[in-house]
Amino acid sequence: SVKVRGLAKRFGERAVLSEVDIELAAGEFVALLGRSGSGKSTLLRILAGLEPAEAGEVDVPGAVSIAFQQPRLLPWRPVWRNVVLGLPGRGRDRALAERALAEVRLGEHADAWPRTLSGGEAQRVSLARALVREPDLLLLDEPFGALDALTRLAMHALVENLWRRHRPGVLLVTHDVDEALLLADRILVLADGRIRAEHVLDRPRPRRPVDHLDVRAKVLA
Ligand code: ATP
Ligand code: MG
Repeated sequence: SVKVRGLAKRFGERAVLSEVDIELAAGEFVALLGRSGSGKSTLLRILAGLEPAEAGEVDVPGAVSIAFQQPRLLPWRPVWRNVVLGLPGRGRDRALAERALAEVRLGEHADAWPRTLSGGEAQRVSLARALVREPDLLLLDEPFGALDALTRLAMHALVENLWRRHRPGVLLVTHDVDEALLLADRILVLADGRIRAEHVLDRPRPRRPVDHLDVRAKVLA
């Protein structure tokens, strides 16, 4: 479970986060909305340990993965190596990377160079990279922003199915309210440096038409 209390962060003069409180139960799926520039990516980077907080308590579970809004892939490594980069020893194998790439519908791109990927493809490599780690907490920073509607649909189904299989906690940043309603247990809104609104969706989560999503994606593809 995740616990954030009184989290603050400034860049120079600009206070981006002033007092963020968030709790995530183990296996909970939470969507985070907020205007552009409200500090969502900053919050995720702090949770991932990539950026220091200025004040407050941040308590996150063991393994955390992040899929970046603007993925930075190592340009001198083929796509599949980027997926398993940093995994310990045996985890670094190609079969694992290929499975993850197939899941994000990039099976054909295992040997491609990062610079040849489109924005949406790079985002999905970053997603595959996050998935192979089977984290306790999955941080998704607008992972579907650059995708066409059909691929986005397929990625919704993928994330939903993955969540059902492993039950990681998920914090999904999105600008798409429908996406939040579809996937999340709870929706948080970040504004003025704090969580300004919260909406809890019906629990237990209603059965989602995931198979239906799969079918739609197939039919329309
Ligand atoms: P978007 O929806 O556009 O992705 P966001 O909510 O993710 O926005 P952040 O990327 O967290 O917003 O940025 C929040 C604010 O902090 C912005 O005003 C941004 O310019 C500023 N900021 C972020 N990172 C840095 C940095 N490393 N140095 C200086 N300012 C920064
Ligand atoms: Mg952002």
